[in-house]
Amino acid sequence: MPIRVLDPELVAQIAAGEVIERPASVVKELVENALDAGASRIEVETEGGGRSRIRVADDGCGIPAAEVALAFARHATSKISAPEDLFRIATLGFRGEALAAIAAVARVTCRTRAVGEELGTYVRIEGGEIREQRPMARPPGTEMIVEDLFFNTPARRKFLKGEGAERRAIDLWISRYALAYPRVAFFLRHDRREALTLPAAREPRHRLAALYGAEVAEALLEVHEADEEMRISGWISPPGMDRPDRQEMAFFVNGRWVQDRMLPAAVLQAYHTLLPAGRFPWSFLWIDLPLDAVDVNVHPAKIEVRFRDPDRVFRLVQRAAHRALRQTAPRVFQSVASPMAPVSMPARPLPPGEPADVLPKPSGEEAGLPPLRVIGQLQATYIVAEGPDGLYLLDQHAAHERVLYEELMARRQEGPLPAQPLLQPVLLEVSPEEGSLLEEHQETLRELGLWIEPFGPRAVRVRAIPAVLSAEAIRAVIQDLLFDLHEARRPMEAALEARWIRSICKRAAVKAGQVLGMEQMQHLVRALERCAMPWTCPHGRPTVLRFPLGQLAHQFGREP
Ligand code: ADP
Ligand code: MG
Repeated sequence: MPIRVLDPELVAQIAAGEVIERPASVVKELVENALDAGASRIEVETEGGGRSRIRVADDGCGIPAAEVALAFARHATSKISAPEDLFRIATLGFRGEALAAIAAVARVTCRTRAVGEELGTYVRIEGGEIREQRPMARPPGTEMIVEDLFFNTPARRKFLKGEGAERRAIDLWISRYALAYPRVAFFLRHDRREALTLPAAREPRHRLAALYGAEVAEALLEVHEADEEMRISGWISPPGMDRPDRQEMAFFVNGRWVQDRMLPAAVLQAYHTLLPAGRFPWSFLWIDLPLDAVDVNVHPAKIEVRFRDPDRVFRLVQRAAHRALRQTAPRVFQSVASPMAPVSMPARPLPPGEPADVLPKPSGEEAGLPPLRVIGQLQATYIVAEGPDGLYLLDQHAAHERVLYEELMARRQEGPLPAQPLLQPVLLEVSPEEGSLLEEHQETLRELGLWIEPFGPRAVRVRAIPAVLSAEAIRAVIQDLLFDLHEARRPMEAALEARWIRSICKRAAVKAGQVLGMEQMQHLVRALERCAMPWTCPHGRPTVLRFPLGQLAHQFGREP
C-alpha cells in the first residue's frame, strides 16, 4: 500500500483509542472535568455498564457559550497555554483530548451554562460532528450524556468486558475520586439503582467510613510525614488487618489517583514481617509535592506520573508507613516482628533419606489408602495411625478438607448443595465493588448453599450458608470468594465452583490445634479411606506421611 496521510476521522479514532478504552475511562474523564470545574456535587449514572449511556452532571463553573464547540475540538483546553505550564499542572486535565476523544467514538449531548452567563448551551455531537447547537435555559454547571459508546468502532466494542466488569471499573474510579475529594458530594447510579450516595464530608475519615464502613475506617492507622518539600498523609492498616490482594492500596499524587509500582513497594517494605506472605495491607496515601517535582504528562490517560526524585519519594513513603505502624501498635509490632517468630517449613518435598516419605501419588489399583488403626493424636494436629506396612501420620485438617471436598463435589453432581438457613441473617460490610461482584454471582453461590443478597450499597445479607459450614466461618469464606473473583478475570463457571467448594472445605474442616476424640479420628480416617484421591488435600498438600516398617527397623538397627 502506498503511504498516505490518514483522513481526519480515522486519526481522531486512533487518538481516541489511547484515552477512551472503556466506559470507565469516559466516567473518569468526565468526573475529572467536573472536579477541575470546581464542582461541589457530581452525579454519575450509567446504563448497560456504561455502554448504552453515561451521564455526568456537575454544578461547576460551566462552559461559556462561545467555547462549547471548541471544548470538543482536539487539543483544546482552558487549563494550560504555554510549554512551561506543563510543569505546574494543578488540574486533573490539561491535554485537551478527553472530550474530543469521547465525541469521536460516541453520541454526546452536552448541556452547560457558565457561571456569570445568562443563558446556557445545548449541543449534540455524533462521531465528532456537531449535529445541533442552540441556546437553552438551565442552571450553571454542566451535564454530559454519552450514548452508544464505540457505535462507530464495532471492533472496539468487541473488546469490552461484561456489564458487571464495566460497572465495577466505574465503581472503583468513583470510589477513588470520592476518597480523594471528600468535600465533593458524589452520587452514582447503575441502571437507575443507587450504587453510591456520598454527601459532602467534613473530614476525610467520614468519607472513608462512608465508602468502606465504620469498621474499616476506625481500624486504619493515620499517617503523617513530611520533609521540606513533600507531605505524606492518609491511612494504612494495622498488622493483623490485611487482604489477599493489592486492591485497596491506592496513592494520590497531588490529588490524582496514580498507578505506580514503586509506591506500593515502599509501603510493603515498611510492613516487612508484619504481613503474612501473599497478604497485602490497606493503604490510602496522599503524596503532596511541588507541582514541578512531578511530571504528569507521561501517560495519555494520566494515570502514571514521573517523580523528579523518585528515591526521595520512596524513602518518605516508607518512613511514613513505618512510623505509623510503630507508634500505634507497639505490642503487635514487637511480637510479630520478633526473630523468634516461627518459620513455616514447606510441606514438601522432604529431603531424601529421611525415615518419613511422602507417599508418591499411587496409580491404578494402589490408589486407595490401606485400612488404618488410630493410635492417637499428636500436638492436637496430627493423627497417629498404624497401617499394615508401617506408621502413618495424618494431617487432620488436610485430611478433613479432602474428605469434605469429595463429598461436596459428589453431591454437587446431583444438585444444589444443602443450605442451612440462618435464624439471624448475617450482615457483612463490603465495598460497593465487592457488593456488585457478589450480586453478579448470586445464582452460582445459591447453588453452593450460600444465599446472599445486596443490602444497601455497602453491605450484603447472608441468609443461608452451606450446611457443612459454621456461621463463624462465613466471613472468611466470603473473603476467599472475593479474592478469587478479583483474581480470576473471566472465570469458567465450573472451575469457579470447584474453587469455591475448595474454599468452603478449607473453612469447614477441623483446624490444627483442635483436640479430637478417638471416635472422631476413627470416623475421619474411615472417610479418608473411602476417598478416591486420599493422598493430598484439594490444594495439593499431602494428607498422609508414611513411615515404612522396614525403615523403622533399619533406624533402630534391627535385622530385617
Ligand atoms: P482537558 O480537561 O484536558 O482540558 P477536556 O477535553 O477534558 O480537556 O475538556 C476540554 C475543556 O472543556 C476543558 O479544558 C474545560 O475548559 C472544558 N470543560 C470540560 N468539561 C467541563 C465541565 N464539566 N465544566 C466546565 N468546563 C468543562
Ligand atoms: Mg479533561
